[in-house]
Amino acid sequence: MITIKSPYEIECMRCAGKVAGQALAAAGAMIEPGVTTHDVDMAVRKVIADNGMIPSFLGYGGFPAAACVSINDEVIHGIPGKRVIKEGDLVKIDVGATYKGYHGDTAGTFACGKITPEAEKLITVTRQSFYEGIKFAREGQKLSNISHAIQKYCEDNGFSVVRKFVGHGVGANLHEDPEVPNFGEPGHGPRLRAGMTIAIEPMVNAGTYGVRVLSDGWTVLTLDHALSAHYEHTVLITDGDPVLLTLPE
Ligand code: MG
Repeated sequence: MITIKSPYEIECMRCAGKVAGQALAAAGAMIEPGVTTHDVDMAVRKVIADNGMIPSFLGYGGFPAAACVSINDEVIHGIPGKRVIKEGDLVKIDVGATYKGYHGDTAGTFACGKITPEAEKLITVTRQSFYEGIKFAREGQKLSNISHAIQKYCEDNGFSVVRKFVGHGVGANLHEDPEVPNFGEPGHGPRLRAGMTIAIEPMVNAGTYGVRVLSDGWTVLTLDHALSAHYEHTVLITDGDPVLLTLPE
């Protein structure tokens, strides 16, 4: 069931989202050679705790950290630890914060130092595919119009979109209805209504779209070990332009 959020619920999500956005920005700004993925997680925890909020991911399904940190061919759900980030790495960070029981969920991809032109293009296309998608994040649109726009933009630029993992509704639950795929034909799925809140999150691969889950039960890798990028905001559908709830300010 897709819930329509009340003004109170939207306000809580706006607060949670802003802090999630700030945590992501702080984590992204610290990426440099020598930083560990654990350091990134600690920075995320600090921003969320300093704002009196709760990290949405910590303990979710048993996940052991506040941030997912995924490097190069890791797509999503990387577990922070001792891994040292190196020059040239592509670092995906995914963050959630909870305020009064409501979640904000956001992710981005950050370059460590100098990266290849292809990696630069992958980051740019992944981010832009989100903005292509949200052109259809409007009341009255069919959900898959977003999905189709994301897929088309990525594929037109020579990349592929992950099929196995998708965006999602978000609110009182970190993951709730509807599923928000980054692929598909237009004109399908539920019709969007004002007050729906969805996490739109293109996961884009430089090679094929296939992925597999590592033996740690979490980390998702590209099957061909090509690079992957990720970009996500929590989006509020309104009777006008969509509102990004996870901007840092
Ligand atoms: Mg998400």
